[in-house]
Amino acid sequence: MFKDANWAKLNYMARVGGMFAEPAKASQCEECGECEEVCPQKLPVSDLLKDVASEMEGPFFNAKIWTVKTFTKFKEWQAFRTGKN
Ligand code: SF4
Repeated sequence: MFKDANWAKLNYMARVGGMFAEPAKASQCEECGECEEVCPQKLPVSDLLKDVASEMEGPFFNAKIWTVKTFTKFKEWQAFRTGKN
């Protein structure tokens, strides 16, 4: 779907990483197995999500999200303060 790995990771951060909404990222899987019990394809979902987390999140993922969110809030505050919003 994404030929550019960095673009894919940026999209992952934005869509499920918690940059703009509550996070729904792969590393949140608790390995309960409920989805695997009902999956008609018998996919090893929790194992697949570990692969996704490893590929798309990696080290410092939460720190990156925090940095982007903090910078965004600062820019919003700065725009509000200067009347340029
Ligand atoms: S195993 Fe499936 S249902 Fe359980 S937390 Fe992970 S994704 Fe959700």
